Amino acid sequence: GANIRLENLTKRYPGSAAPAVDNVSMDIKAGELIVFVGPSGCGKSTTLKMINRLIEPTSGKILINDEDVTNIDPVGLRRKVGYAIQSSGLFPHMTVAQNISLVPKMIGWSKGRVDARVAEMLDLVGLDPTEFRGRYPRQLSGGQQQRVGVARALAADPPVLLMDEPFGAVDPITRDHLQDELIRLQHELHKTIVFVTHDFDEAIKLGDRIAVLRERSHIAQFDTPEAILTN
Ligand code: ADP
Ligand code: ADP
Repeated sequence: GANIRLENLTKRYPGSAAPAVDNVSMDIKAGELIVFVGPSGCGKSTTLKMINRLIEPTSGKILINDEDVTNIDPVGLRRKVGYAIQSSGLFPHMTVAQNISLVPKMIGWSKGRVDARVAEMLDLVGLDPTEFRGRYPRQLSGGQQQRVGVARALAADPPVLLMDEPFGAVDPITRDHLQDELIRLQHELHKTIVFVTHDFDEAIKLGDRIAVLRERSHIAQFDTPEAILTN
């Protein structure tokens, strides 16, 4: 894993009166699974997108293993940080296998290694590789698309995983399985995971620590599930 430090992070979108994220600081330890839980619009997605530099903060800093993310080159950042989102974000003109191979190919893995990894990742998220690798996203259900999105995020084995409501469209039984897989990945491979959800039960099940967020990502509570439940 890798530790993540947010230092006085602020994001003000052009033209909006109030910042979406206002002066947030947080320390995430290597190998921790942190859940951000809070109402829609409180800035959870904005915070995640700043960590992987899909958007730039207005002010403040993000450090991954004590390195300012603005000093990490784009390919290096992809290698370090996997990203899975609610809408899956799959490229519609690419097959499942091509979508999952994106980052591994970008960082120079051989074709054999990439092909084996695609099959391994599809198995991990409960999709039969033979049946699914050649399909296009439109040939998948919403929940299957999300599972492929998770497979893509994990493909290059990044030490940091950012997950923005990744299981929202997945059926309850598969979701339960994927939650268990995520906990296993974290325990066995010591990944640092930042997981965003609306679902308090999911937060309690997954989080080593849970950040309860209010407007503008103000941290109302940041504690273990046990401590949050007794408050
Ligand atoms: P959450 O993930 O908690 O639902 P977001 O980070 O998506 O919240 O949004 C936080 C706030 O920023 C909201 O008020 C939202 O309307 C606003 N916002 C998000 N993206 C943009 C954007 N690209 N331009 C302007 N405002 C945005
Ligand atoms: P390209 O610029 O090569 O066309 P994109 O920038 O659209 O590719 O990103 C490809 C996919 O990789 C995205 O859909 C997203 O899921 C994932 N991704 C994008 N940025 C990052 C990042 N900083 N870290 C990890 N994954 C990312």
